[in-house]
Amino acid sequence: MDSFNPIIIGDVEPFSIVDFPNKIATVVFMQGCPWRCPFCYNFSLQKIGAKPETEWTFETLKCFLQKRKKMLDAVVFSGGEPLVQEGLEQAIDEVKNLGFEVGLHTGGFNPIMLERIVKKVDWIGLDIKAPFLAEKYKIATGCFDNIENIITSLETLLASGTNFECRTTCDPRILNINDIYEIAMTLKKIGVREYYLQKYRPVESDTTTTDEMCESIISDKNLLDFLKNNFKVFEVRK
Ligand code: SF4
Repeated sequence: MDSFNPIIIGDVEPFSIVDFPNKIATVVFMQGCPWRCPFCYNFSLQKIGAKPETEWTFETLKCFLQKRKKMLDAVVFSGGEPLVQEGLEQAIDEVKNLGFEVGLHTGGFNPIMLERIVKKVDWIGLDIKAPFLAEKYKIATGCFDNIENIITSLETLLASGTNFECRTTCDPRILNINDIYEIAMTLKKIGVREYYLQKYRPVESDTTTTDEMCESIISDKNLLDFLKNNFKVFEVRK
């Protein structure tokens, strides 16, 4: 990478109203992710260092943004996993200098990088993949069991004062209702106020999970009441 193109972009969604709360945002899908979640919808973005098929570069992104300043509020760095790319901080600085707010979607993989950039970011969506146990994270991410990194990332976020939400994709092949209770109790205990459950939609390779199974966690009334009572903001996203 060079100073003109500090990040490898896998793709860009030019206009989104669902990736940064109450903002119209351009979403930058950054190439590369160290994890292999079985429910990953962005399979093509996983390979770190791969040459993306897209024509988008950071230079073309900036040209696009400059021409649409009046139509857009924010730029969201998503993935893949944005925290694996060393040039993320420079990219954030440049986007902010253009006058945009900045959002970040992350799994909290790299707390050192998160610490560097957290105060420059206006809003963060943190994916909580599983209860905070090494063996559960290893299953949910397909490989990763350094649970300390996830906890440090959460603590970093809480200490920063940056707005953020936590969210969990409810893949019934990996999680059950008790897992969500466990996640929620930990989040509540450390002071998280916003939590969302996301419906799992079967990926192409998953030919056995039915819609009924996908609904099983997110329609459990006792669980939903518990979550509503324990978070300032709680919603199910379908
Ligand atoms: S962290 Fe996100 S991009 Fe990476 S494998 Fe998991 S779902 Fe896919």
